[in-house]
Amino acid sequence: MQHKSTEITIVGGGVVGLSVAMGLLDAGHRVQVLDGVDSDMRASQGNFGLIWGQGKGWNFAPYAKWTYAALAKWPAFGRRLTDLSGMDIAVEQNGGFEFFTNADEMDEFAGMLANQQAHLGNRVNHEILTGDEVRGQIRGIGRDVVGASFSQTDGHVNPLRLLRALRLAVKALGGRITMDAHVTKITPATGGGFDLTLADGQQIGTGKVILSAGLGAMKLAGDLGFKTRIRPQRGELLITEKLGERLPFLSSTIRQVDEGGIQIGGTKADAGMDDSETLNVMAGLAKHAVAVFPALADVRVVRAWGALRVMSPDGFPVYAQSQRHSDAYLVTCHSGVTLAPLHASTLADWIENTTNAPDLEAFDEHRFSL
Ligand SMILES: Cc1cc2nc3c(=O)[nH]c(=O)nc-3n(C[C@H](O)[C@H](O)[C@H](O)COP(=O)(O)OP(=O)(O)OC[C@H]3O[C@@H](n4cnc5c(N)ncnc54)[C@H](O)[C@@H]3O)c2cc1C
Repeated sequence: MQHKSTEITIVGGGVVGLSVAMGLLDAGHRVQVLDGVDSDMRASQGNFGLIWGQGKGWNFAPYAKWTYAALAKWPAFGRRLTDLSGMDIAVEQNGGFEFFTNADEMDEFAGMLANQQAHLGNRVNHEILTGDEVRGQIRGIGRDVVGASFSQTDGHVNPLRLLRALRLAVKALGGRITMDAHVTKITPATGGGFDLTLADGQQIGTGKVILSAGLGAMKLAGDLGFKTRIRPQRGELLITEKLGERLPFLSSTIRQVDEGGIQIGGTKADAGMDDSETLNVMAGLAKHAVAVFPALADVRVVRAWGALRVMSPDGFPVYAQSQRHSDAYLVTCHSGVTLAPLHASTLADWIENTTNAPDLEAFDEHRFSL
């Protein structure tokens, strides 16, 4: 087979694949991204847009450190994306709250934050507030709120514009993105590299392959010798009509999109590949939002949707080089928005195995067989 000149092919053009593409392009590689079809499950098109650290990795220090390294890189990463794409992706990183209406849940989360702090030392600083302290700080917080935690480094972004900006940035850096390019098979080629078969029968040769196809990676990972079992986890979200006034806080479950609507979310369910929304969950979300900020009771909900998270067995990222084919990599995670600045920089060093390569041993898939 005639191999085209593409040096690295990334399978999957969501937030993760595109971020990785940026890093590899910056490192001077020729990169093409093959992205699937509209009917694919796409977490990058249905997420909550948080750039979030609170609680992450409380029970797994490498993930806590990785997340906070990403948060530190977000301001510069956001500016660079805007420079490359010409788009405002509405990054705001002025701190965020976790609100609680149940005292036991609040205590449990405070314990998790204490563990996280033990992993991170003075790199992270959070505050624990009583209900009255929160009400003293933010006008309009409901009486049902028993307390909150606050971290200065948390923030959010417009997720759809982030996705678009990443596409434009990859193109601006000289990368090629092909849409409707559903890869059905990846075969190691004689003499090195891989042959990729697309759904339309086209064959593409590549030197290295990076599998970042979200839930679509499930079907291809075995071809390359990966053992990680990726699973879907459904989240449901609501969005309200656009409001003229600004919501006076950002929280992990309630945020105001830059265009004005209030997005409400944070649910988790195992529902297989079913991404539909359900009335009882929607009602629960609305109830929670009104308990936290009662003025929302008068705001109309205009849209609701479900979307599937891309979860590894333990919920932490997987950065794995295939044991069977050393030029094949699996890169997959939840929180791909938060981690984007690292995927677009440090991860390229790891793939290239440069002297600056981070130690990502803790994220290898061999942890699942231990
Ligand atoms: C409800 C919800 C809320 C979330 N909130 C947040 C949040 O607030 N903050 C945060 O950091 N993260 C959040 N996430 C997680 C975040 O959205 C994901 O980590 C991220 O979008 C994953 O990106 P991805 O590129 O791996 O996967 P996807 O976005 O699913 O992209 C995979 C891509 O691969 C393509 N593909 C699939 N199969 C093939 C194939 N065979 N050939 C070629 N292409 C293929 C698909 O077409 C798709 O474009 C949330 C997720 C959900 C569902």
